[in-house]
Amino acid sequence: MSTVLISGASIAGPALAYWLRRHGFDVTVVEKAGTPRGGGYPIDIRGTAVDVVERMGLLPALRAAHVDTRALTFLEPDGSPVASLRPEALAGGGEGRDLEVVRGDLTRLLYDAVRDEVEFLFDDAIVALDEHPGGVDVTFRGGARRTVDIVVGADGLHSGVRALAFGPEETFHRYLGYCFAGFTMRNDAGLSHEGVIWNAPGRGAIRYAVGDGETLHGLLCFARAEPPFHAFRDPAAQRDLVAAVFADDEWEIVAGMVDAMRAADDLYFDVVSQIRLPHWSAGRVVLAGDAAHAPSFLTGQGSSLALVGAYMLAGELAVNPDHRTAFAAYERATRPFAEANQALVTAGDARLVPRTAEALARRNAALRDLTAVPEPGGRPAHTALRLPTFATP
Ligand SMILES: Cc1cc2nc3c(=O)[nH]c(=O)nc-3n(C[C@H](O)[C@H](O)[C@H](O)COP(=O)(O)OP(=O)(O)OC[C@H]3O[C@@H](n4cnc5c(N)ncnc54)[C@H](O)[C@@H]3O)c2cc1C
Repeated sequence: MSTVLISGASIAGPALAYWLRRHGFDVTVVEKAGTPRGGGYPIDIRGTAVDVVERMGLLPALRAAHVDTRALTFLEPDGSPVASLRPEALAGGGEGRDLEVVRGDLTRLLYDAVRDEVEFLFDDAIVALDEHPGGVDVTFRGGARRTVDIVVGADGLHSGVRALAFGPEETFHRYLGYCFAGFTMRNDAGLSHEGVIWNAPGRGAIRYAVGDGETLHGLLCFARAEPPFHAFRDPAAQRDLVAAVFADDEWEIVAGMVDAMRAADDLYFDVVSQIRLPHWSAGRVVLAGDAAHAPSFLTGQGSSLALVGAYMLAGELAVNPDHRTAFAAYERATRPFAEANQALVTAGDARLVPRTAEALARRNAALRDLTAVPEPGGRPAHTALRLPTFATP
């Protein structure tokens, strides 16, 4: 039985572990956090990815966890309303099958589906890879070593495995010109099952109420020509940067969000970027999910790509005894799907945080029209891959 070591226990990692187990592989997952990371913002599972979770038997549980956002309301800089829409009017409703769940709920369901059959090493990470004809010698941060047949980097946008096997992130990182700060804040406005999106040119302040509880997901997103390298490992600098960007926005809700961001103990700051690699594998090391092809949250397709890619990689490994053939087949079948979804970023950019006053005015005019004529059907990119069936031994 081949041994596979997966780095990352979020979405791509546990989904891949599930399918590899189904195909008879011996799987270990290493995760740098102490537990599967819970909580977080709502994510979408759309199109082909719905077929994947259905084949995993997770559809009923995910339907129960569906957050059922009923309205997205867009606001002018002074807080006055632009338009209020059903979410599917923006994303293109997938004939009612698409799901929206809290990211941590999806991670938990995927983890629960494999935890009894897969070894999980929490609070650890891979620090060295040494490949030879018989396998890959892996060294862990905690000092342990082991030899495996295949290593998978499913450890996200800033993948550690990718850095070890493919080189520095800068080479593959396509910065899209935005940064964001996500955090939890009090639901003082009594929002319920809705998102409220305030914009000024180059800035967006989003409040997202998953249900009608006491907390909200807050997101402050802003355009910035260069990535703020100085702030990457400095939470105080991140808070100062975000506060400075929104300092002149006097509408009280935005000022309150900046205060909440400053006080939050779960601030998550990052750049909005894609990963574009010439190849997704190097020797016995292969990448999955955001590590291979992050589309950025502007597309809303990161989790769906992670689920579909995991299914395809496990399946190709199951039917191709030679890992090189399997990796090539996985990439050949999945890359066009990933690239079609990465290409959605232009639409995301125009809608979420238009950079200029003119672009914002155009976006707002389009939103007012959408209330009258909702877009029918899903986006073609969401279903641009038809799932094959891979024989299980
Ligand atoms: C604000 C925001 C909103 C989003 N909205 C959506 C949306 O609406 N729809 C959607 O589909 N997607 C959305 N996404 C993107 C989505 O969350 C990701 O694209 C998706 O989770 C990809 O899953 P992944 O498993 O590949 O990577 P990740 O979810 O990034 O997980 C990587 C895992 O690897 C671990 N890890 C990292 N480095 C190491 C290491 N060196 N060693 C071991 N473990 C490591 C991390 O702790 C983490 O558990 C959004 C993202 C953000 C930030």
